[in-house]
Amino acid sequence: MKNKIVSVGSIAIDELQTPKGSHSNIIGGSATFFSIAASRYNPVKLIGIVGDDFPKEGWDLFNKYDVNTDMVTIENGKTFSWGGKYSDDYSTRDTLYTDLGVFENYIPNIPESVDTEYLYLGNIQPSLQLDVIKKIKNKKRIVSDTMNLWIDLDLKGLWEVINLTNIFLLNDEEAMQLTGETDINKIGHQLIDAGPDTVIIKKGAKGSTLFTSKETIEMPVYDKIELFDPTGAGDSFAGGLVGYISKHGEENIKEALVHATATASFTVSDFGVTGLTKSSRESFESRCKYIKSKL
Ligand code: AMP
Repeated sequence: MKNKIVSVGSIAIDELQTPKGSHSNIIGGSATFFSIAASRYNPVKLIGIVGDDFPKEGWDLFNKYDVNTDMVTIENGKTFSWGGKYSDDYSTRDTLYTDLGVFENYIPNIPESVDTEYLYLGNIQPSLQLDVIKKIKNKKRIVSDTMNLWIDLDLKGLWEVINLTNIFLLNDEEAMQLTGETDINKIGHQLIDAGPDTVIIKKGAKGSTLFTSKETIEMPVYDKIELFDPTGAGDSFAGGLVGYISKHGEENIKEALVHATATASFTVSDFGVTGLTKSSRESFESRCKYIKSKL
């Protein structure tokens, strides 16, 4: 296959209000965090759309990493924008606004020749995730994520995506909203019954749990950091996970979870993608080692 990783999802301009400060015009989006994180392991081909207001800083960011933007469309109009406000202890987040902008009517033009080992469907409308699944015929594994807005707006489409997904990730609150269950173990197995062979439920500061039909793995977080901005933690986690397995295979999925957890720990240590871009190889490895010492 020509591509190891192809990703689709939002490419956004975010406004963040956190107990440690507010920032606007920050580059964000599910596909942005994912692609930067995963490109540490293998090149990423990004599919998406931005408006003509998308700043040079965003393109520079993708160019600096191994993120190919040939399939990112630029259209007259507004880039997807999202505003979020965290509570005083960061335990909850309210969406202030979601403006799909040019994503609203986006139908990607994907040549038949595009193939991939891993197709990552980041958080975006399920109809778009399904369209990309349909258009990329030659793919080995589908990994997907979603968010509360799409559970509210298109539950049917989302279950179709889940049914076609091999590795499904979502956070605990969304998992409860999606299934109407509160027991994480029950939810994990219910989701496995719906199609994926692997389900990972992210539990914020409480770590994550991976479910397959054969095993359940608990992964703690890297807890020696100061939290600044959790935005994009989930997508960075997915980037670390998919990056790792695209390079080393899925045999050692526990190690992949350690990499995913360490990757997300950098994202939350600063605003937007800054934390992720500041991680050095040495500090990454030392965080992985620390996480493993807690297993
Ligand atoms: P996370 O913190 O992992 O939930 O990801 C937040 C990122 O996803 C932000 O950078 C937002 O721009 C983007 N985002 C927020 N809401 C949505 C949505 N409904 N669909 C797609 N992307 C979104």
